[in-house]
Amino acid sequence: MSAARSQEPEARRSISIGEFELSAIQDGIYRLDGGAFFGVVPKTLWSKKVSADENNLVPAGLNSVLVRTGEKNILIETGAGNKLPEKMAQIFGQPAKLIEALGQTGLGPDDIDIVINSHLHFDHCGWNTVRRNGKAVATFPKAQYYVQEGEWKHAHEGQRDRVSYLHENYDPLVESGQMTLLGGNQEIVPGISVEVLPGHTRDMQAILIQSGGKAACYISDLIPTSAHLELNWAMAFDLYPLETIESRKRYYSRAIPELWLTMFTHDPEMPWGYVERNDSGKLVLRT
Ligand SMILES: [Zn+2]
Repeated sequence: MSAARSQEPEARRSISIGEFELSAIQDGIYRLDGGAFFGVVPKTLWSKKVSADENNLVPAGLNSVLVRTGEKNILIETGAGNKLPEKMAQIFGQPAKLIEALGQTGLGPDDIDIVINSHLHFDHCGWNTVRRNGKAVATFPKAQYYVQEGEWKHAHEGQRDRVSYLHENYDPLVESGQMTLLGGNQEIVPGISVEVLPGHTRDMQAILIQSGGKAACYISDLIPTSAHLELNWAMAFDLYPLETIESRKRYYSRAIPELWLTMFTHDPEMPWGYVERNDSGKLVLRT
């Protein structure tokens, strides 16, 4: 492989936002049911963008973002991890590549100062903990973790999405005080803040990164991939689909005019891009 070619993917997967350096890292690709992934959208439409296998499964990325502010190393989202129960691992796959991907940026688990989870479904916080001697302990021992308190409470309510919650991904951290439960929108460190955008769950938070007049937003499951840009292309997993549409409108009303970089949690190929409206008013991605 030529030097130019080997540099190409790396260049696409890191970007500067003002003084911050962002790297897209991935826990790997897993599989989701295409019908569930695209909700009420007919397959004749979504299959033009994404191809399903013989079991109607589509590939989805487990995408994290590393933010280096110069003072802190911040990890947004921790994939599906390596502790899935056997049945879930069979259904979804368990690539478990995040620590290796982090290593390729030159950092190890000890170097992470802050972990932010958008919400606590298993495919967003799996590497929060690892099992040692049968006990779940922090994968990132020096990090403080952040999630919304409402999301943590919901995880214990046993509602429609209860199968998506694995308590050992967060309860040991809450008990030890290593996970901070937030009560709404908040700045975590200068330039990095969280904002609650309901729809997928009531308390899912997006992570907003602002530096030097530029901005990027990890929008998580509110807009999971670049194939989900249209307002009503929402996932069947969403607990409050009408609120998904309202939250998307609110997001685009700022992200499009202010040229925010939108970061996708489950896009298998495209970690980020700029959402725009084309001449006919359709939402499109510029990468
Ligand atoms: Zn989710």
